[in-house]
Amino acid sequence: MRFKVNEIFYSIQGEGSRAGRPCLFIRLTGCPLRCVYCDTTYAFHEGEMMELEAILAAARERLGPPMAGPNAPFVELTGGEPLAHPGAPALLGALEGLGYQVALETAGSHDLAPVPRSVVKIVDRKTPGSGEEGRWLESNLDFMVSGQDELKFVLCGPDDYQWAKAWCRARDVLGRLDVLFSPVWGGLDAAWLAEQIVKDNLPVRFQLQLHKLLWGPDRRGV
Ligand code: SF4
Repeated sequence: MRFKVNEIFYSIQGEGSRAGRPCLFIRLTGCPLRCVYCDTTYAFHEGEMMELEAILAAARERLGPPMAGPNAPFVELTGGEPLAHPGAPALLGALEGLGYQVALETAGSHDLAPVPRSVVKIVDRKTPGSGEEGRWLESNLDFMVSGQDELKFVLCGPDDYQWAKAWCRARDVLGRLDVLFSPVWGGLDAAWLAEQIVKDNLPVRFQLQLHKLLWGPDRRGV
């Protein structure tokens, strides 16, 4: 089984409830979406074909032997849109088979059903401001595991905030899943968003993209 891989790099997890954790990122090439704020357009086409075994060998080489516990070696499959690759669930399962904790970053536009339940799923619900609101598979909510998976909203403005709040409330996801609200980089005022969350007593996690604060918005491989 082969995959087009854009890059494999070791860095700090910049987002979500696991932010700050060292993580090996495997970025697959290609995405059928075109979000207006996309920061990985270089992953739309660039990449080299790699055999599954070569990807696993790269993971083993960087992460070493598996360990249990909260500081176990951590690997994330990202993109592009990794689930646009039909073999992605098998790759996730194989990485888990090495004994690592495994996460998947996805836009929620592709079916989560074949993804192993134990994989940490970070699912990006695209808002109207992204331009890709319609690329969403509602049934994916049924495959998200409470206490493990995360539902993420990148908000482009106050209208997106109101939309995301109403969307979450209509589906009662706030009591079931970790929900993350973040301002789009260079767009929505971060302090405004934090204040709104507090004012509305909304049980979501405010987040900033740690890797962009550390290294700037354009650096690759971090
Ligand atoms: S889903 Fe992700 S990779 Fe694809 S266009 Fe949107 S931001 Fe870019």
